[in-house]
Amino acid sequence: MDDVPTEDLEEWTNWSGNLQFEPGVIATPETEGQVQSLVEHCRAEGKTLRVVGAGHSWTPVVETDGVLVSLERLTGLVEHDREAGEAVIRGGTTLGEATAALQEVGLAMTNLGDVSLQTVAGAFGTGTHGTGTELQSLSSTLVGGRIVTGTGDVKAFSAEDDPEFLRAARLSLGTLGVFTELRLDLERAYKIERREYCTTAEEALEHVPTLAAENRHFDFYWYPRSDEVKLRLLNAPNGGTDERDLAFASLVKKGTGWWHQTIAEHDDMTRLFEEMEYAVPAEEGLECFREVRERIRENWRADVGWRVLWRTIAPEDTYLSAEYGRETVTIGILQNAQLEFREYFEDLEGVFRSYDGRPHWGKRHSLRAPELAKLYPEWDRFQEIRREHDPDGVFTSDYLRTLLEGAGVTAEEQPRRIGERESEVEGE
Ligand SMILES: Cc1cc2nc3c(=O)[nH]c(=O)nc-3n(C[C@H](O)[C@H](O)[C@H](O)COP(=O)(O)OP(=O)(O)OC[C@H]3O[C@@H](n4cnc5c(N)ncnc54)[C@H](O)[C@@H]3O)c2cc1C
Repeated sequence: MDDVPTEDLEEWTNWSGNLQFEPGVIATPETEGQVQSLVEHCRAEGKTLRVVGAGHSWTPVVETDGVLVSLERLTGLVEHDREAGEAVIRGGTTLGEATAALQEVGLAMTNLGDVSLQTVAGAFGTGTHGTGTELQSLSSTLVGGRIVTGTGDVKAFSAEDDPEFLRAARLSLGTLGVFTELRLDLERAYKIERREYCTTAEEALEHVPTLAAENRHFDFYWYPRSDEVKLRLLNAPNGGTDERDLAFASLVKKGTGWWHQTIAEHDDMTRLFEEMEYAVPAEEGLECFREVRERIRENWRADVGWRVLWRTIAPEDTYLSAEYGRETVTIGILQNAQLEFREYFEDLEGVFRSYDGRPHWGKRHSLRAPELAKLYPEWDRFQEIRREHDPDGVFTSDYLRTLLEGAGVTAEEQPRRIGERESEVEGE
């Protein structure tokens, strides 16, 4: 790996600043061949290699005491086919870079989350999603690509040749290998009208099922201190719920723009926050939200600095997708990064779990393999594919071992505190 650019890195910190580790070195390969030599080096030396995207996850998914790899030098559009609605991007490309480059060739992603600062591969890696009852999460658009596996080999994959691998690859936490190229299923570039309304929580809750059904993208933020709600409706211009049917709310914002510019308006977000988000069955989504609201108002109203986000997503067949096999509502609780969040999140996690909730892989949660395995019907198939592509565990860190393998201990013996790692728990 002598020819691979590397830099000393004493401390790595995630976006919110609450997660740190000491990788020692970060490698920034310029070619796929250099990625291969990094994997071969780690395999031979018995080191763990973790690839990092933009570092926007709150769980220690990229933590390693071995080699941290960033693909920041492997970015951009490789090729596109407007007629077929497909394009290939390099593994380090951010969502912002990808959507801007796609726009230039008349293409767009079907759905996006709240910001576009993440890398595409990193967003796929933890199951990043937006909202829309008929729409799936971002990684459902992955239809092929190239990955450097744990043996250092390059595997070219596609939906036609290896559908089972694709179901694992779409959400794989960097445990099957390093994606150097991603082939995406896309739409023609389109414009979106964004409308935002404010109302009380009680008024909003009555209308949520209709709004979710009538709008391409619908979600809402609830503000615990005021008990008010902001509704967000995104549709093709003049589409979605008629303004007259929203008389119960006040229009606070309206505008139309290209999709990627409309959704990414949060990119200038200056407030750092922590988040826990669970995916629950859609039919129980409102009941779960009501219980969350009640619990927060009872126990946490004075402590909560920020808001709660409610979204919908269509079912998927990706093995580790939180939307696997069911129509889903996600509920995210956000807390300012400088405020206490652990006890708050732990308390609310109990509510989410009582609804058979599955945690977002990139957001704070305390679940480990013994509990997670029960939530995912095809858990074992994912693990088989993981072992096949990474037989020596080059991509498996201590954290991922507890997450995916259980490390031979029961759920009770696993660390229980939100966001803490083994070393911190042992040190208590
Ligand atoms: C401000 C903010 C807003 C957010 N909004 C949303 C939202 O709207 N919806 C939502 O669902 N989530 C949201 N998230 C969560 C975020 O999208 C996820 O945590 C996402 O995984 C972060 O992407 P990243 O590029 O930072 O990847 P990282 O966090 O750096 O990595 C995530 C995973 O991807 C793997 N990975 C990265 N690159 C590669 C590669 N080339 N090959 C193989 N594996 C790779 C990593 O190893 C890791 O396992 C938000 C987070 C923040 C901080």
